[in-house]
Amino acid sequence: MRKPILIANWKMNGSLHANQALLVRMLAKLRPFRKTIDMVICPPFPYLFQVRDLLGYTGLSLGSQNASSAVSGAHTGEVSATMLQEMGCRYVLVGHSERRSLYQESNANVAARHKQVLATDMTPVLCVGETLEEREQGQTMTVIERQLQAVIDASGLEGLSSSIIAYEPVWAIGTGKTATPEQVYEIHRAIREFLDTRQAGTGQSVSVVYGGSVKSGNAAELFQSPEVDGGLIGGASLQADEFALITAALADTVAEAGSLCGMLD
Ligand code: PEP
Repeated sequence: MRKPILIANWKMNGSLHANQALLVRMLAKLRPFRKTIDMVICPPFPYLFQVRDLLGYTGLSLGSQNASSAVSGAHTGEVSATMLQEMGCRYVLVGHSERRSLYQESNANVAARHKQVLATDMTPVLCVGETLEEREQGQTMTVIERQLQAVIDASGLEGLSSSIIAYEPVWAIGTGKTATPEQVYEIHRAIREFLDTRQAGTGQSVSVVYGGSVKSGNAAELFQSPEVDGGLIGGASLQADEFALITAALADTVAEAGSLCGMLD
């Protein structure tokens, strides 16, 4: 059974003071949802320690925005997966589109980072998605399948299926443009079908979340499909009230799905 999950990606934002204020407000508002939804906060590296302490025993998890493809050694500016685990991280984003486009992380490089995360007890959150140009050329699933296959090549299907997959259309990240619920449904289904072509049944075992300009005003419709297991939230995760409303929207869809199942039993 896949548990719904929301992952807050703070990107390169925050300060000691701002993080504390945001989390104090956020944690109070998120308390009612802790049992139904897994929640993860991914701050910038220097704040991992602070956020870990503030999360304490709240039930929320700590995540990292990236991990090195190397184990250790002469890799100035990189942070290894084992260091992140030691800091208390339970999840690591890999292949975020900003890393792929601004820092030239190729599919093979992302797969190598993913492999390092897998070698720990942490869960990789593999971000995949197409640019607007690729979508307009009808290349969406070709691009995503290449991104998924690179991880299969490096870590096998088992490695990929031990991950969370975040479908994040590049054109929807930080732009205010959101994919329609139909587009999200279609791609989440196609990702599961791709996994099933590799091994029947794998598609339904993997959590697939959506990211791209999710806000309180569109969360309910984006999360309504049973194909969507939650969200990767950027900008809106920097506002306690917005993030709490998004969480409430996800909790509502979970409760609705539960009562529908009850009616069918
Ligand atoms: C992200 O950073 O992964 C993201 C989805 O950002 P935003 O919600 O701001 O589009």
